[in-house]
Amino acid sequence: MKPYPVEPFRIKMVEPIRLIPPDERQKAMQTAGYNLFNLRAEDVFIDLLTDSGTGTMSQDQWAAMMTGDESYAGARSYYRLADVMQKIFGFEHFVPTHQGRAAENILTQLLVKPGMYVPSNMHFDTTDGNIRARGGRPTNLVIDEAFDPTNPHPFKGNMDVQKLRTFIEQVGPQNIPFGSITITNNAGGGQPVSLENIRQVAEVYHHYGIPFFIDACRFAENAYFIKQREPGCAHLSTLEIARQIFALADGAWMSAKKDALVNIGGFLAVRDDDLFQRICNELILREGFVTYGGLAGRDLDAMAVGLMEGLDEEYLAYRIGQTAYFADQLKSAGIPIIEPAGGHAIYLDAGRFLPHIPHAEYPGQALAAALYLEGGIRGVEIGSVMFAYPDPDSGEMIYPKLELVRLAIPRRTYTRSHFDYIVEVLKSLTDQRETLRGYRITYAPPLLRHFTARFEPL
Ligand SMILES: *Cc1c(COP(=O)(O)O)cnc(C)c1O
Repeated sequence: MKPYPVEPFRIKMVEPIRLIPPDERQKAMQTAGYNLFNLRAEDVFIDLLTDSGTGTMSQDQWAAMMTGDESYAGARSYYRLADVMQKIFGFEHFVPTHQGRAAENILTQLLVKPGMYVPSNMHFDTTDGNIRARGGRPTNLVIDEAFDPTNPHPFKGNMDVQKLRTFIEQVGPQNIPFGSITITNNAGGGQPVSLENIRQVAEVYHHYGIPFFIDACRFAENAYFIKQREPGCAHLSTLEIARQIFALADGAWMSAKKDALVNIGGFLAVRDDDLFQRICNELILREGFVTYGGLAGRDLDAMAVGLMEGLDEEYLAYRIGQTAYFADQLKSAGIPIIEPAGGHAIYLDAGRFLPHIPHAEYPGQALAAALYLEGGIRGVEIGSVMFAYPDPDSGEMIYPKLELVRLAIPRRTYTRSHFDYIVEVLKSLTDQRETLRGYRITYAPPLLRHFTARFEPL
């Protein structure tokens, strides 16, 4: 049994949460059309919808916010962030952005032309969307092990280097404006990428003259997995590992709402002078001046402190240990999950949990709804609601391989008893699983339907 890591902090500000009674939860779900995105947050007891921007800031971050310099241009806050950016990432240039997708918007706007391809291990959905919005073709080339829910590969986020070479030869390097890799692989379960794999991927891209960009949202968690799991890396600090990773790339972007431990923020960093100039012009048009990029000065300060705290190894041992503990408890209770556990979330395998509910009746939706009705817990369906689509030729529905419910873990926010409680709720659902029924969609927009679809229980 994995021990629960003792939190390397104590709590000095509390935010009350409340489990509303079962009949009120039932009513809340009816009003929400059984879509958890439509719930009022105050009706949720434990909110694991996302780990993005939902974490807890430290006393040092709050203190730094008070020193925020709100000058329009050249603020002290910007220079404090620039120092930290240099220390960790080492790129020649960067601009702050208000989130990760703002950086993606600018990068794809400048580089992606219709018909061009952008390979990655797996693109996150906002990256995928931004590439498509420019007429580009996002391509996922993760290793096959990533699709096997019980394969214990230590770096299931790795890119298949041979597939990448073949792909570049096939479409031609001139049709690839930049290549990418996502660390950790969010869309693939928060699985890490090894330093060796990043090195090989960089080599392949550079061999063909393709600029290499890293989607760095969870770079600190990834660095910690490298330290733990990769031969020859145990003696390196997570900061040294991060520096080695980014030294291999021509640029990176990040949603600071993840490993920079802030509620809002991001950046886009590059080496190339000309590209940087064009990024600045685009940023000024859409986000703000180059030294604030759509953020307040205080946000830049919180980010500067959060980036360093996110790399702290005691924090990371607790963070990754908490996820591992939660996964271990679920496994011992016989609840099917994707293994091994990644960094920021647990993925319940609703397909195995509710084998009597077919794809067309949304087993993931059924489990996510049951978790809320039974225990006030909010996760998110990642299955047929999110990813089933009709074949453009035959019109036949194509369903994803896996029907999952993601329980994302906000940073420094919930304690052991919260996780133990969730395990108890899932145990009780296990006992009544034959009684759980599927759902029918009563309304859905054509794209990204999971956000606004409405359901009815069958
Ligand atoms: C969250 C995320 C993004 C997008 O960032 P936002 O801040 O939500 O716009 C991009 N890539 C990955 C891997 C992410 O996890």
